[in-house]
Amino acid sequence: MKPTHIEHIGIAVKSLEEAIPFYEKVLGLECYAVEEVEEQKVKTAFFKVGQTKIELLESTDPEGPIGKFVEKTGGGMHHMAFAYDDVEKALKEAEENGCRLIDKTPRNGAEGLKIGFLHPKSTFKVLTEICGDK
Ligand code: ZN
Repeated sequence: MKPTHIEHIGIAVKSLEEAIPFYEKVLGLECYAVEEVEEQKVKTAFFKVGQTKIELLESTDPEGPIGKFVEKTGGGMHHMAFAYDDVEKALKEAEENGCRLIDKTPRNGAEGLKIGFLHPKSTFKVLTEICGDK
């Protein structure tokens, strides 16, 4: 399966409130949505650049995945998401091609999209997300 585009780039930040002005005032983007994804213990803020989004992630729990990442690294580029028409099939095909998966079956991400992560050990250290196309 081929992805249709880069759906979003995920960037971990300590505080959405502190980071949003950079994207709005310096880069000239507009934050069009802020959403909490309880399942992933994050609050997200979205910006659009063409068809691709920037997804800022602020942890709502220090023990959550983003909380731990920010604690360890201070934040920054966290993952890249590719859009596929069929997330379940894309994950299955990745596994068939020898890729380790974090999510064997899709789960719920922000904006009501199905998502699944590939394991960084199989993706040259870039946490890679398979994401539904809207
Ligand atoms: Zn993501």
